[in-house]
Amino acid sequence: MGGVAWGTSTTSMLSQRTKYVFVTGGVVSSIGKGLAAASIGALMEARGLRVTHIKLDPYINVDPGTMSPYQHGEVYVTDDGAETDLDLGHYERFTSARLTRANNFTTGRIYDAVISKERRGEYLGATVQVIPHITDEIKARVREVSAGVDVAIVEIGGTVGDIESLPFLEAVRQMRIELGHQNTVSVHVTLVPWIAAAGELKTKPTQHSVKELLGLGIQPEILICRVDRELSLDLKRKIGHFTNVGMDAVIAAKDVSCIYELPIWLHKEGLDQQLVERLNIWSRQPDLSPWKRTVEKMLDPTKEAVSIALVGKYVHLRDAYKSLHESIVHGGLANDVNVIVHYVDSEELQREPDTAKLLGSYDAILVPGGFGDRGLEGKIKAIRYAREHNVPFFGICLGMQMAVVEFARHVCHLEGANTVEADPQAKYPLIHLMPGQRGIQDKGATMRLGAYPCDLAEGSLAARVYGAAAISERHRHRFEVNNEYRDVLERSGLKLSGLSPDQLLVEMIELPNHPYFIGCQFHPEFKSKPHAPHPLFTHFIRAAHEFQRIRPPVKEEARRAELN
Ligand code: GLN
Repeated sequence: MGGVAWGTSTTSMLSQRTKYVFVTGGVVSSIGKGLAAASIGALMEARGLRVTHIKLDPYINVDPGTMSPYQHGEVYVTDDGAETDLDLGHYERFTSARLTRANNFTTGRIYDAVISKERRGEYLGATVQVIPHITDEIKARVREVSAGVDVAIVEIGGTVGDIESLPFLEAVRQMRIELGHQNTVSVHVTLVPWIAAAGELKTKPTQHSVKELLGLGIQPEILICRVDRELSLDLKRKIGHFTNVGMDAVIAAKDVSCIYELPIWLHKEGLDQQLVERLNIWSRQPDLSPWKRTVEKMLDPTKEAVSIALVGKYVHLRDAYKSLHESIVHGGLANDVNVIVHYVDSEELQREPDTAKLLGSYDAILVPGGFGDRGLEGKIKAIRYAREHNVPFFGICLGMQMAVVEFARHVCHLEGANTVEADPQAKYPLIHLMPGQRGIQDKGATMRLGAYPCDLAEGSLAARVYGAAAISERHRHRFEVNNEYRDVLERSGLKLSGLSPDQLLVEMIELPNHPYFIGCQFHPEFKSKPHAPHPLFTHFIRAAHEFQRIRPPVKEEARRAELN
């Protein structure tokens, strides 16, 4: 059968079968599999194809919502309120796909569904087994969420060889047989390490990893090899030879200086050409101009730099602030400045008597979301410093809650003001449990989650920043500003600039007599994209840049220490 001319979203195309790209990883974790999958989505979309992304996570948790950021990094939230793997953030940032709870599922969710069906008697007396019942459930869900798109990119979490991922890989094997090889392609992301003692790149781990995959009945057609230097044609030939993969389909993914370079690099290596040929898709060459513009801007050496203090408790764990970090970078892109993000440990700040010593050299201060009471007083110190020294401030979720507590304590003179999350007996419970949250025992998926509308006060900084009177943003929290204190806060000069449409929930705050001081109860970082930076980040970085121009000069040694 000949290829099908695709590339425009016509109804006739919708009737075409969805093609599947299965992405697995080998050798080690944290190899950039999620970014590789996201780049595949970006490349397919740049060819005019409609894509979706699915992430299958082998762990038993029903979702990552109950997992510590130390274990799992950021919990990404979709519009429909699913707590998902952070790779969904990459997918949404790299493509225009709008993902939902159906786009990420775990072993736990699959078993949960199968066991519920069994209890309802839906298996009609059959012995319920991994094959076919678990694998059927996986396949059905993958097919359902990919209906109507041209290409579904399905990433399997973990590393090939993990005991937990076996049912997922078995489902992939079956789907490949059922749908045929023109409709599915298997991409394996591996590591080709440089062994300094030998002065050589080593291909053996890749050979072993592919062997493992072959043992499960899956022959990868494309290998994406992570390397820290050039992968010679000889080595590509060798890898191809040992893995039954065509040499042209051995793609080198060299370390890039910015992640948005990845689609461009993989295109140069021929990845998208390989994919469309194997999937028998006729499509135009990809238009990568937005990616090129972004990368040019990112790498422009003539750009000025601003430096931001991010005051949080997961300072050694960049994955915990993945989307946030990217959004800050996007804000820099929008202003043609480099942003140096300096992670300041809120507990260290809590112990330090001289706040200026730790925060005095930054152009802006950001307090992100978080849970629990550790380091909270350090965050309050940072907010007070920003407020009193006219340093641009942005508080997100917990960051906004703490800004309200700080204001109550030091401007409204409500000594003992706190969030009940940290102090259940607080004398002034400025932040308290939302009425709907009282009495909830289950921790999983019970927060206020997902997109909610918010009305912005006319004439507010928030309305100016958004250029809109009504917005929708994604939430993930249990606690909320206590309405009993609204009056006293407003009388003392805090503007409640964003409210839920029923006026019952405070969603944004700002300080009119401060150059730039904004807090939001939602997480704008889940919606920022490199080609469409979120206005709250754009304006925050703009304010940082302006502050840099007018602020007292920073001592050279402090600046250098900060850059190190
Ligand atoms: N811990 C706070 C709450 O549950 C803030 C949550 C957050 O920052 N995401 O309301």
